[in-house]
Amino acid sequence: MIIDCHGHYTTAPRQHEGWRTQQIEAHAAGKPPPPRPAMTDDEIRATIEGGQLKVQQERGTDLTIFSPRAAGMGHHLGDATTSDAWAGACNELIHRVCALFPKNFVGVAMLPQSARVRPTNCIPEIDRCINQYGFVGINLNPDPSGGHWQDPPLSDRYWYPVYEKMVEYDIPAMIHVSASCNPTHHTTGSHYLNGDTAGFNQLMTSSVFKDFPTIKFIIPHGGGAVPYHWGRYRGLAQDAKLGLLSDLMLNNVFFDTCVYHLPGQELLAKVIPVDNILFASEMIGAVRGIDPETGHHYDDTKRYIDQLTLSPADKAKIFEGNARRVYSRLSKVIEKQAV
Ligand SMILES: [Zn+2]
Repeated sequence: MIIDCHGHYTTAPRQHEGWRTQQIEAHAAGKPPPPRPAMTDDEIRATIEGGQLKVQQERGTDLTIFSPRAAGMGHHLGDATTSDAWAGACNELIHRVCALFPKNFVGVAMLPQSARVRPTNCIPEIDRCINQYGFVGINLNPDPSGGHWQDPPLSDRYWYPVYEKMVEYDIPAMIHVSASCNPTHHTTGSHYLNGDTAGFNQLMTSSVFKDFPTIKFIIPHGGGAVPYHWGRYRGLAQDAKLGLLSDLMLNNVFFDTCVYHLPGQELLAKVIPVDNILFASEMIGAVRGIDPETGHHYDDTKRYIDQLTLSPADKAKIFEGNARRVYSRLSKVIEKQAV
């Protein structure tokens, strides 16, 4: 089985994002939002059959761990109340996709975060998504301000209510920022990779893994700059007398394979132990074009893994085994949804 641990519903029916615009406009005008739009199962089905399902079939992958559109989370817009309603709407839509295509999609929740609001307010939505929807993880935004970094670092106890829930349910968090509202940081070219890199560094210099020995984080987009600069982080950890970086981080931190060229994947697989790499593509996401050097889509990351000189057993870990281990609820959900 090939499990893609990083997919977003980037093709949701138009009225979904349309309502979000109305909601934020109403908030700015001090008015209540309009009622949420109706979306039929057929409308949802069409967006998936012509989108993510089609790509799965073309590329030979089986299952996508699926969450709301990341740039669309927009935690810097509105306030905690608008974030709560928006996260609820987005997660419900993911649940409907998973119910319509139970063999192909398993859900991950976006959280109703809001800049400078302690994430205690996210707990009810986590409970709902895990208990009612059968989701297997969360996306945690380390910068709900959208590129201005106004909240404390992930090392701070500010975040501990979310960490406690993660441990209680044994669910991982993918550290994933949303859109940038800071013009100096392009959303997908700079802010995403900055978020990944900053998140890793914040955790490295923290006591989070002492306080939560079983907690698990996935750093997406190949880990931002981290694998390329592994020597820098090893040296920083050593200078700070934190011990060996591999001992410090690799029981709790995992990297996905959303790296859009073969040399990058080769580096990732060379630097990071195979047990800490999860297959992912973020298909129909940030980079949708075809690479003229290969004739294939940049985000067809399975092709790069296929070309790595790893044993079949190691590739099976990247494609399936590690995802089942890190998303510890996944195997049960796969079994249940297959029925
Ligand atoms: Zn993403």
